[in-house]
Amino acid sequence: MPIRTLRLALAVAVCATTLMAQSQPPPPRTIAVRAARLVDPKGGTTIANPVVIVEGDKVKAVGANPAVPAGAEVIDLRAATLIPGLIDAHTHVTAQPTDYYEDTFRRSPIDYAVLAHVYAKRTVEAGFTTIRDVGAAEYIDIALKRAIDKGNVLGPRMIPAGLAISSTGGHGDLTGFSPYVRIENMTGVADGVDAIRRLVRTNVKYGADVIKVLAGGGVLSEEENVGGPQFSQQELNALVEEAAMWGRKVAAHAHGAEPIKRAIKAGVASIEHASLIDDDGIRLAKERGTFLVMDVYNDDYILAEYGRMGYPEKIFDKERQVGRLQRENFQKAVRAGAKMAFGTDAGVYPHGWNAKQFAIMVKWGMTPMQAIQAATVNAADLLGWKGRVGELSPGAYADLAAVADDPLADVSTLERVTFVMKGGVVVKGGK
Ligand SMILES: [Zn+2]
Repeated sequence: MPIRTLRLALAVAVCATTLMAQSQPPPPRTIAVRAARLVDPKGGTTIANPVVIVEGDKVKAVGANPAVPAGAEVIDLRAATLIPGLIDAHTHVTAQPTDYYEDTFRRSPIDYAVLAHVYAKRTVEAGFTTIRDVGAAEYIDIALKRAIDKGNVLGPRMIPAGLAISSTGGHGDLTGFSPYVRIENMTGVADGVDAIRRLVRTNVKYGADVIKVLAGGGVLSEEENVGGPQFSQQELNALVEEAAMWGRKVAAHAHGAEPIKRAIKAGVASIEHASLIDDDGIRLAKERGTFLVMDVYNDDYILAEYGRMGYPEKIFDKERQVGRLQRENFQKAVRAGAKMAFGTDAGVYPHGWNAKQFAIMVKWGMTPMQAIQAATVNAADLLGWKGRVGELSPGAYADLAAVADDPLADVSTLERVTFVMKGGVVVKGGK
């Protein structure tokens, strides 16, 4: 840019900033969003010819015939169906696998950090306006959340966990390599009550809104056993107590029946995966009001795609052990009436594909309305954000999405979101 043009540009920028500083904030914008129908997961009903009145970043009124204030901007989505913005209670939005050895050894946290905003954008454009992000390296999730909240990058509302807490040799440790292989990253490994309490405090210090614990073995790591426990009852009890002291809920990763029961007894808010949950575990979860967050889609993706990404055979063995059983146990838990929230482990498969899980949930026992409720009102309850997200009621955030067809007739239409509004701002589609 020639120096004169640069000076002119700077002068204009300074003028604009001065003007902005002097003027009063404009009155909140009012928008009326119309469509053919609205799925209301809170009431479990559908409203025909709905109008959602949005004022600023909140919903002001919803119904078949609310008065549209004079001067309101009208967005007419005609034949579309409106739904509240969706919630994924289990994502890892800062990363996505490409190749096992490259991801482990050739990419640094900076490589991950520079791409995270791309995945955040894909997620919100898929209609997921809120996510609980349950574990990221180096607090990248918290930096991303701040950038989204400031409006620097586009993405969903985030509840980040920071470092997922693992035992030595557990799912969050680097396993399967020589004892001489060390990666100098921030560690989520803690053993014993004192170290666990310190790590909870460290996560809170750096901005974690939820605490994630790896209570048992995992699939995408080479440790011994996918179903085994990796923390003692005493360690889990201390972790949940410490988190509660700082006002944080706990999400516990657990595939196996034993770590699931330990985590529920310790008082976690949700069991993630819950693949091998037994009848006792389901009963205990119901008794204690613990949510099950069962990621029943990604088995298809892992078995189809991870081979070409160089993942070790052991990981496939583990996936084969849990994939099918997780779906059967999901069905059992649905029939038993356990509390379920939608969570996909997005980041294990490409971001933006979150809604592919709805069809699997319906195939394995949920009604389309139940699946939508899991991703709206139930997930909001789990997050502690009831009334703020997951519903279109006066006072809630104006987070909504639209699809071309009726998701109660064909739930897979949720994979093709045509319009998204977050906090009263259209982020996809529109007129
Ligand atoms: Zn996960």
